[in-house]
Amino acid sequence: MTTHPSAAVIARYADPGADLDEVTMWSVELHLEECAECRSRLTGGADVLERVAAALDREIAAGPAPARRRRWSVASNRWLVWHLVPWLVMSLAVLACAVLLQAAQPLVPLVLLLAPVAPLPGVAIAWSRRHDPAWELIAGTPAAGLAMLLRRTAAVLIVIVPSLALASSRTGVSLALTLLPCLAFTAATIALGAFIGVHRAAAGLGIAWTLAVLVPAVISTHVPLVLRPGSSGAWALLTLALAGLAATRAANYRRLSSHN
Ligand SMILES: [Zn+2]
Repeated sequence: MTTHPSAAVIARYADPGADLDEVTMWSVELHLEECAECRSRLTGGADVLERVAAALDREIAAGPAPARRRRWSVASNRWLVWHLVPWLVMSLAVLACAVLLQAAQPLVPLVLLLAPVAPLPGVAIAWSRRHDPAWELIAGTPAAGLAMLLRRTAAVLIVIVPSLALASSRTGVSLALTLLPCLAFTAATIALGAFIGVHRAAAGLGIAWTLAVLVPAVISTHVPLVLRPGSSGAWALLTLALAGLAATRAANYRRLSSHN
């Protein structure tokens, strides 16, 4: 700790009229931060705070009562994330095209091939500094972090999962092999997103799947090994493992890092 400043210096520091040079000002300020004794010598400091608090209390009590929010508006603020809508519409449009194409050309199970990446555009946008106009505001609230991302991911899945189920029933592909990879990739995005940001994780996984599985399958018109019947157990295990990993990385989402 630095030495206690003299009473005269503290009095000049407290007096807004006195011109204290900047170096002394800083050293007094630094000292006050760690010295309770000198803080108590700051004459009138506690008084001023108490008077301000009392005046604020009076003014708040005299003001109009805060408007009560309607229940539906709370729900809509919490669950409807408007900036997600265009991305979800795009995903649904792609899925609808896949259903039509698969009906016309049944050799390639397009719905099956697109299912893992279908939720990724929505999840990528769910917790993104660039795409959420209120990101800074939300990031500062206690609700931010993994809980917020999961809630928004749920909002994405509420739209994507029934659409995938419908698409799988329309095209006759396995429901388990449509939904489990979709959930596995969602969990993978959240788990990987804890390290490199959700946006990058979604883009990376989407590109990897497209290049490693989707494109070769479309070219060869063969169902890829990872989507053959019997692989749903492995997908279920993978989903659980990735969800567990994401849960242990919750703390990473509390940080305001540059890659959100
Ligand atoms: Zn001191």
